[in-house]
Amino acid sequence: MILRWLEERREGVVQSDSDIQAFVAGVVDGSVTRAQAAAWLSFVYLKGMSDEETVAFTRAMTNSGDLLEWPGLEGPFVDKHSTGGVGDKVSLVLAPVWAAMGFKVPMISGRGLGITGGTLDKLEAIPGYRTDLDAADLRRVLGDVGCFISGQTGELAPADGILYGLRNETATVPSIPLITGSILSKKLAEGLDRLVLDVKWGSGAFMKTLSDARQLADCLVRVGTLANVSVQAHLTEMSQPLGAAVGNALEVEESIACLKGQGPRALRDLVLDLSGDPNGAADVLDNGSAFEKFQAMVAAQGGDLSAPLKGQGCQRWVLEASESGVVRTCDALGVGQASFALGAGRARAKDPVHHGVGVLVHAHVGDSVSRGQALATLVYADKGFEAARDHLKAAFVLES
Ligand code: URA
Repeated sequence: MILRWLEERREGVVQSDSDIQAFVAGVVDGSVTRAQAAAWLSFVYLKGMSDEETVAFTRAMTNSGDLLEWPGLEGPFVDKHSTGGVGDKVSLVLAPVWAAMGFKVPMISGRGLGITGGTLDKLEAIPGYRTDLDAADLRRVLGDVGCFISGQTGELAPADGILYGLRNETATVPSIPLITGSILSKKLAEGLDRLVLDVKWGSGAFMKTLSDARQLADCLVRVGTLANVSVQAHLTEMSQPLGAAVGNALEVEESIACLKGQGPRALRDLVLDLSGDPNGAADVLDNGSAFEKFQAMVAAQGGDLSAPLKGQGCQRWVLEASESGVVRTCDALGVGQASFALGAGRARAKDPVHHGVGVLVHAHVGDSVSRGQALATLVYADKGFEAARDHLKAAFVLES
């Protein structure tokens, strides 16, 4: 049976729902070996998969683990997923914004890897904030507050955990149907009515070009719709960091500013755009109700906003413009590498992060600066200063 599945995939023969389900079940129970699963992934990488097959694959991975349900709670249940970027703290703002607008937001988030920050790492800069809520706690916080942001409970789409690991080992990550199945399988397990996707493109994003990001966005929408979830995808540029703050506690501070109706325009604009109702979202940001939801969510998850954020006591170094001119690049990848070098991110899943370090960007693309003006500040502690300084210097190109 397994050999037939592999031969079909190798030849690009369309596979039935039941065969795809049996394959995914076999990956989880071990009857499909790692070598066989790796071969299957490689064939999908090379030959692709139809939308219908991708739906079957997505559903099988969703059903491989726990499914979150919200009996007794009134929706609509809404969430957003970003493919990740540098300084992307939108989730911290959008979840309470939606809750203040009357939606329920069961947001299961992840940790950062490489230069991409993770929502859970950012929120854990708040002393006491718990990201390990169990199913009963999730339901309580969702019912009482209207939103939570927490990590996976039990096993959400365990098949994706196994297959994603194998894809990393076999250079088969950049496959549109495999990425689609991976992202959607985890989100469909949250019991959503609507999912908003922020597909990023540019130097600091997973997808480097607009056309690759568009292909992924189109596939996510088609497959999500076939799987009966209303999915909207936005394509947003990530060639420079979003807002000023990059790094865990720094991004929490900037998110709080945005929730108080302040903070960088680019962050606010993206939150308004992704919300689906820019006027309604602007109202709850400006009248304080979104910030109240954030405070309530943090308190319900054990966090103490009156205490200083973690990672205090860092030093600062300012990169100044060496000449007057206009900022041509403030490269997201370079700024992300600088923040990563200081310890804000992690190279391996189990590595710790430093909550205080990172970068504050003062000048973005198109800004006019004069010689000696601050372009960015490194907030650093005990590691990586020289490497971070080099990355930061290279990230800025000025044109006179
Ligand atoms: N993020 C995911 O969760 N899965 C992928 O395959 C790629 C990015």
